[in-house]
Amino acid sequence: MSVVDDIIRLFETQGHTAYYGEPVSQKEHALQTAHQAEQEGASASVVVAALVHDIGHVLRGLPEDIASQGIDSRHEDAGEAWLARHFGPAVTEPVKLHVAAKRYLCATDPDYQRRLSPASVQSLHLQGGPFRRDEIAAFEKHPYYREAVQLRRYDDAAKVPGWDVPGLEHYRQLLEAAVVHD
Ligand code: FE
Repeated sequence: MSVVDDIIRLFETQGHTAYYGEPVSQKEHALQTAHQAEQEGASASVVVAALVHDIGHVLRGLPEDIASQGIDSRHEDAGEAWLARHFGPAVTEPVKLHVAAKRYLCATDPDYQRRLSPASVQSLHLQGGPFRRDEIAAFEKHPYYREAVQLRRYDDAAKVPGWDVPGLEHYRQLLEAAVVHD
């Protein structure tokens, strides 16, 4: 079994779990995020990152209401650690930074925070709230911060019940091409 088989199987078997407080499952959310990346003409790495950005949630099988328990599950770190065994930084860094990108956008885009879903506003506080000025500057030094912000916008818009988007197999070739060590 290849790592790509593992990823597809993981979403098939664990992806039915709810995306905390949102009206879509983890699998639907992953597929909608990747679909937007592809539609917007994002790079192959960003499309792959979009598909797997929340893999930390399905990897750990955490309780569905973790955010409401006042625990920040740091799913972006769990996801990045697992993905780094198989993918390079163009995939793993946007995944690692996608929560920081939310804090960045809350601090730099006045409309952004207003458009967040209630669950996302709740987790924002657990994640540390909007960035301060020094945190903004530090974030913008990161080589993949633009890709992380791009991913974040697809992520936020990938919560649409019943949206008919391509399935996991649609991304098999892209995933295989992005693997650096199987
Ligand atoms: Fe997400």
